[in-house]
Amino acid sequence: MDIASLTIRTVRETLLARRASAAELAADALRFAEAENPRTNAYLHFCPERALAAARRVDEAIARGEDPGPLAGVPMAVKDVIVTRGVRTTCGSRLLANFVSPYDATAITRLEQAGAVLLGKTNCDEFAMGSSNENSAFGPVRNPLAPDRVPGGSSGGSAAAVAQGTCVAALGSDTGGSIRQPASFCGVVGVTPTYGRVSRYGLTAFASSLDHIGPFARTVKDCATVLRVIAGRDPCDATSADAPVPDYPALLEGSVKGLKLGLPREYLKDLKSEVGDLIGRAVTVLQQLGCEVHDISLPATDYAVACYYVIATAEASSNLARYDGVRYTSRSPHSETLSDMYRNSRGEGFGAECKRRIMLGTYVLSHGYYDAYYLKAQKVRALIARDFARAFEELDAVVAPVSPFPAFKLGEKIDDPVSMYLSDIYTITGSLAGIPCMSVPCGATAEGLPVGMQILTRHFDESTMFRLAGAYETAVGSGTARPM
Ligand code: GLN
Repeated sequence: MDIASLTIRTVRETLLARRASAAELAADALRFAEAENPRTNAYLHFCPERALAAARRVDEAIARGEDPGPLAGVPMAVKDVIVTRGVRTTCGSRLLANFVSPYDATAITRLEQAGAVLLGKTNCDEFAMGSSNENSAFGPVRNPLAPDRVPGGSSGGSAAAVAQGTCVAALGSDTGGSIRQPASFCGVVGVTPTYGRVSRYGLTAFASSLDHIGPFARTVKDCATVLRVIAGRDPCDATSADAPVPDYPALLEGSVKGLKLGLPREYLKDLKSEVGDLIGRAVTVLQQLGCEVHDISLPATDYAVACYYVIATAEASSNLARYDGVRYTSRSPHSETLSDMYRNSRGEGFGAECKRRIMLGTYVLSHGYYDAYYLKAQKVRALIARDFARAFEELDAVVAPVSPFPAFKLGEKIDDPVSMYLSDIYTITGSLAGIPCMSVPCGATAEGLPVGMQILTRHFDESTMFRLAGAYETAVGSGTARPM
């Protein structure tokens, strides 16, 4: 069986036709993923016992004649910032190298109840801070399509695993672009749902007002299927929304004729590269499918990166205060006093990017600066959200690039944080507004580097987003991912 090209549907057909058992499939998938992993470092650790136990439960359900669930036997991977009971969750940090959570995140519980088989945990930037996966304490991830290039970040391991074919779908987390940007760089589909659509219970907090869990897969339909499973109100997360969850995969087939799309001027004005040409071609395909395209303006866009790096670092400085050497983390052995112990544990444990953000965040929250930076950034955030709200009074969706450039070389931007931060210039706005957004592959550059098109819709209107992405994918054929 060709593990690398499985989809949720082909896994289901295989199991129901009894061509293989879920346990056999899980064993094959684990063997394949472990053998392929040295090429990318996408997985930090595997959990074969848990995978095989989940697969056996699926086989038992099938033997009893029960429906084994919408993700029955589907090999999946999960970013290592989402906690898993009994299986390490490191957050890509030395501080949590040996941390084992006593409980499962709600998204994990829901995946396994739907029959998914969790193969392992994927590499990421430390505490999800980064755009290249080079901030992991456990080494960078390589892009499976171009091994001298980054897979994007911070969910680089999940995107690379899906592109490499070592799992059918994966979960990532997105605070300012960490699902869409790596999906674009690796040529897979990545979805950031509406803020509150998926419970954050068990997602390690980076910037709580911006954090989202969302899926990666090789097709729009597979992303839609996974999102439907993990979405919905959860009493363990007070910010999870009590909104009905539509049957996303069933709604994919609808026509997109007459949908009104906006192309924001601010996103395209500096985009003269191949990325701009590919987005232009994708928009033409949508027009041929019957969509109306309008030129629009989202004027607050220019302030988005600055606004994000104030709010995200402020929240991060507070959230990361819990890693103090006392509770979850490793403790520095070289300390005489309590304050030395705090200082040394944090000083030795956190990597450079986390330290930079803790300092920046502490500064913008400090007395005398709070109003000038943090409060101001919250006001700008409201303007960004208002831009989108106004656009959606007339439009059904906004279409934009995901990133100004395709996957860059490992090491190319590591010493230039500002240039690294600009990778997310087009994704941060959607995160600040809390609206659903996704990246769908729309071709590759002459060098063969994939590029993603971003689709953004109204709060809780993931259905229209999936319908557009699905229609586009059907028109052009799925997947630009072709691992070298
Ligand atoms: N690259 C952005 C950052 O470093 C976004 C990260 C994310 O979405 N988790 O903050």
